[in-house]
Amino acid sequence: MKVALQNLTKRFPGRGRGAKDVIAVNDFTFEIPDGKLIGLLGPSGCGKSTTLNLLCGLQKPTSGRIFFGDDEVTKLPAEKRGVGFVFQNYALYPHLTVRQNIMFPLENLKGEQKMTKAQMQEKALEAARLVQIEELMDRKPSELSGGQQQRVAIARALVKRPRILLLDEPLSNLDARLRLQTREEIRRIQRETKITTIFVTHDQEEAMSISDLIVVMKDGVVHQIGKPQEVYDKPVNLFVAQFLGTPPVNTFDGRVKGGKLYIGDEAVLSVEGADDQAVYVGIRPEGFVPEKDGALGCGLVRVEVMGRDVSVVCTHGAAQNTSVRAIIDSDCEIDEEADTVRFSLKPGKVHIFSKETQQRIDCRLFI
Ligand code: ADP
Ligand code: MG
Repeated sequence: MKVALQNLTKRFPGRGRGAKDVIAVNDFTFEIPDGKLIGLLGPSGCGKSTTLNLLCGLQKPTSGRIFFGDDEVTKLPAEKRGVGFVFQNYALYPHLTVRQNIMFPLENLKGEQKMTKAQMQEKALEAARLVQIEELMDRKPSELSGGQQQRVAIARALVKRPRILLLDEPLSNLDARLRLQTREEIRRIQRETKITTIFVTHDQEEAMSISDLIVVMKDGVVHQIGKPQEVYDKPVNLFVAQFLGTPPVNTFDGRVKGGKLYIGDEAVLSVEGADDQAVYVGIRPEGFVPEKDGALGCGLVRVEVMGRDVSVVCTHGAAQNTSVRAIIDSDCEIDEEADTVRFSLKPGKVHIFSKETQQRIDCRLFI
């Protein structure tokens, strides 16, 4: 089921004297293609949960419209929308067994949809199989691990075969290893069911790794929508560049002058198609190549061995980050005793942004 948001806006009135209104969702217009997994990504407070609440009908938009397929659902009550929701604190009913928890959404179906107990149990088992917890049906939530509880919550959201599945930070209560496992699991379930799924997270790596498309947002505003790799390779502004990637992009004060890109007084790359101006230069950690006569010199702080590759921690007077981090192959040789290290830059890993607007400057960078 395709989902479309049209100028969707949610404004919360400010509380207390002089308090400003909060625009949690500001004029969202985009389409979520049928059968895909979309990652809604942004820092805490940027409007992710509000967006999900609007989609499922728990909250009413201030203005704008929502479509599921060709049907407008903006005014449709939540229970008629056919949405499965896994909340951030996936709150299972502690006194009910896993089976009863999963069956719960089926108990209140009315009219034609009403099911017999046997039908409900059959549906619950089907959903449990999908998330591979069919052996746990008679346990109580307190007898399950965090990851298992999370699966029960997902099964409960799936049991009605929703048209759309909404997951609000579903992995945030799990430890690191389980997070990794469960996100692969969610990807598998989504592929199997082909239910259009919206996955909310503040963790860029999580969003990048499982999404077909990511929507990067901040302060209620959508900044960029695209395939994860496209957004990573072509961030539209400095915020998006800095939000995606670990370790984060290294940001420098720089300048375009006479066809060259300068960091400090060093010309680090040639530029075509950008006017002379002050810029921010974003260099991905993997964009540095240590070379004796490389264009950019940095102060060497230390070299951290990480097995597969090596992290070179440096300083630079024009850097916005306190330290500059380069990730290089472990077979590159760095003289750890030296005070400075020189790098050439991979042009595809360097982005420049207007100092004034912080928007990407589309131009050709080359050595
Ligand atoms: P996220 O899920 O991305 O962390 P939310 O959607 O929960 O963000 O919140 C977005 C903004 O809207 C925040 O500034 C939050 O304080 C505000 N907000 C959310 N719900 C309400 C509400 N019911 N009343 C007033 N302000 C709210
Ligand atoms: Mg939230």
